[in-house]
Amino acid sequence: MPDSPTFYELICVSCGKKWKEEETCTTCKDCGNALDVKMDTQYISKKINQFVLEHAPLSAAKYLDFYPIRDRSKVVSLSEGDTPLYLAKKIGKQIGLPKLYVKNEGHNPTGVFKDRGSLVEITKALELGAKAVCVASTGNMAASVAAYSSQAGLPCYILVPEGTPIGKLSQTLSYGGKLIQVRGVYADCVRLAQELSERNGYYLAGDYAFRAEGAKSTAFEIIEQLHWSVPDVVIVPVGCGTNLSGIWKGFAELKELGFIEKLPRMIAVQPKGCDTICNAYQNKDERYTLIEKPNTIASAVGIGVPQDDIKCFNALRDSKGTSQTASDAEILAAQQLLAQEESIFTEPSGAIPVATLPELLEKAIISPLETVVCIATGTGLKDPKAAISSFSEPTSIEPNIEQIEQFLKTGTPTISSSENEKIEKVIFSSAPNSQKIVSETEKLFQYTATGDVLENMTQEITALIQRGNEVKKADLLSILEEAIENTTIPEDPLKIVHYESHDSRGAKPTARITILFQESEESAQASGVGPVDALIKAMKIAASKQTDFWPTLHDFQVNVATSQESALVKVRMEMRDNDGNQVSAKASSPDIIVASLNAFMKGFNLLYERKGR
Ligand SMILES: *Cc1c(COP(=O)(O)O)cnc(C)c1O
Ligand SMILES: [Zn+2]
Repeated sequence: MPDSPTFYELICVSCGKKWKEEETCTTCKDCGNALDVKMDTQYISKKINQFVLEHAPLSAAKYLDFYPIRDRSKVVSLSEGDTPLYLAKKIGKQIGLPKLYVKNEGHNPTGVFKDRGSLVEITKALELGAKAVCVASTGNMAASVAAYSSQAGLPCYILVPEGTPIGKLSQTLSYGGKLIQVRGVYADCVRLAQELSERNGYYLAGDYAFRAEGAKSTAFEIIEQLHWSVPDVVIVPVGCGTNLSGIWKGFAELKELGFIEKLPRMIAVQPKGCDTICNAYQNKDERYTLIEKPNTIASAVGIGVPQDDIKCFNALRDSKGTSQTASDAEILAAQQLLAQEESIFTEPSGAIPVATLPELLEKAIISPLETVVCIATGTGLKDPKAAISSFSEPTSIEPNIEQIEQFLKTGTPTISSSENEKIEKVIFSSAPNSQKIVSETEKLFQYTATGDVLENMTQEITALIQRGNEVKKADLLSILEEAIENTTIPEDPLKIVHYESHDSRGAKPTARITILFQESEESAQASGVGPVDALIKAMKIAASKQTDFWPTLHDFQVNVATSQESALVKVRMEMRDNDGNQVSAKASSPDIIVASLNAFMKGFNLLYERKGR
């Protein structure tokens, strides 16, 4: 038998009007604001089994009595919750916060805390007889709602802004989500999802009242993991504000029920490039600050229109908490700190709480002896591009121990994430001497360039300057990476002496090339579908006068950065020979044709050498 519907009410956070869940469970039909679930704690108190609550193993489903679920035969669960709460000893020691904890929400079924909310929300969709689900998302909500809808047997339509990280898209598609990319921002997706739901009668999932109920289990778990004691501070990364207000509600309900005696202070944290809630809270505004085009590496919280701002402000005020922002550079540094010191790999959004700790301590918003819990909201695998932006590309070597020894001796470049040395900072605007190159490379990448590496770098930098370019930090890194790699690539037998290509409208591009193959000069010409294709064909004809060997090109990637970031075009070619040997050859240049020819030449020489063995 379904449970009595009277143990909770849906109330508008703004005008106070009560709604039946069959009428709306997303936004108030009168004023358009968020709804809140008010639980009858007396009823919960009678229903809960205190022994089970205190002794059963952790899991979000253990707290069913706290959720507005009527029909338990409909529960959709993938074993969410029971995420580890680590004492972050090393970071705590470094910054002077010995009772610093990190709750790693990346351990949830789809790698993000949102699964806690999806448990409740998709169960409610089934209870309310939904035929399909639709949702707007910056990526993580998409994957989570897709996974739970699939378990529930409901089709799921998902709208994400174009440019959503590929990890999140691949996950969503794999769970069977019907994914649409919108040429716009998250706010456009929200508007469209609402319309789609109204027109077709789909259940609208997202940052609404039922989802927030699921977030309460984070609070319940923290209390239990701290052996039924209450932390002083809980720091939560905020996009819509749903998670923070849900966690706060969890603490408040436990106190109302008499399980705990005090409450933690809640701190909302956001990136400076999307500080909708933080800015409004600091200004004591009633509503969020609209950010039309969020600009942050922490894409999961890049939400310009936070639907749960009012609930979030209430939580911050009621808990005597506050808000704090961090820059993208601080966020990336915190992401690396968590991974390196505590082996916690979280996406940039999940690192924001740790990024804000130094300033919170400095401003005495938190004090050194307090127990502080940071919520690392999602796993780092969700957005590998963000994490890898903190590193230089790993060097490739030939399969021999000498190259490994050499590599260990010289080391690899490290990128400092200092604020005033962003990737687009100009390092050289006129030709530097080698002393200058050595000192800048040491300062920026903790790498001492000598010998061939330095010589190679000097050549490339001089060439860039001569062509009228500035050398930015990103350029210097590419040049350094390439110079290191070049020490592992044979220079023979193929060298390019001269080339020209003609590309006239309406005719196939033609090219002429002169090469040196084992010291003898050969020339040839050819036409192709594009100038690079024509040049490679001409090169093949020229080389065929000396050798039968010719590798094939399997993949050709061109990566052009914005001109503010880098003057270089990076080219990568996957090449294979007839024996199945394969190499990935890279080169960069301001000129795409030069980069392509150099990459091809490197790949050729690597494969040719392999053939000789
Ligand atoms: C969704 C999300 C957030 C923000 O949560 P809100 O409930 O929107 O405030 C933070 N971090 C990650 C990783 C997320 O996916
Ligand atoms: Zn209202």
